[in-house]
Amino acid sequence: MKNAEFLEYDIKAHLKCPDCNTVFYYVNYDIPTHVSTYHVCKGCEKPLLVRPLSIDVKFARLTSKTTSNYPIIDKACKAIVSKGFGKKEAMAMIESVYYEGLSLPELIKKAISTYDRKE
Ligand SMILES: [Zn+2]
Repeated sequence: MKNAEFLEYDIKAHLKCPDCNTVFYYVNYDIPTHVSTYHVCKGCEKPLLVRPLSIDVKFARLTSKTTSNYPIIDKACKAIVSKGFGKKEAMAMIESVYYEGLSLPELIKKAISTYDRKE
């Protein structure tokens, strides 16, 4: 199947006053990302320094952290490697076809079919 294309993110950053715990938030492009800004707490009226947040939204790659949380990916990788593929190659094949809910035999079959398509 085709990959969905990324359009934009929709993020709300919730912050709170360290003194009175009053919560405030910034939405999307109002979130400070480069320099600090300030906010006057509505609870205690103290000024607060809001440090910039780092927001980096992009499609994630499969990593060893992913495979430890998804044993099916690790198993499929080992199975594909045992068929003579390199580990990097196997991971790239899995990455292009895996989605949650796919069974191990289906995953292996789909991953290997991406290699057959290239030939
Ligand atoms: Zn406060």
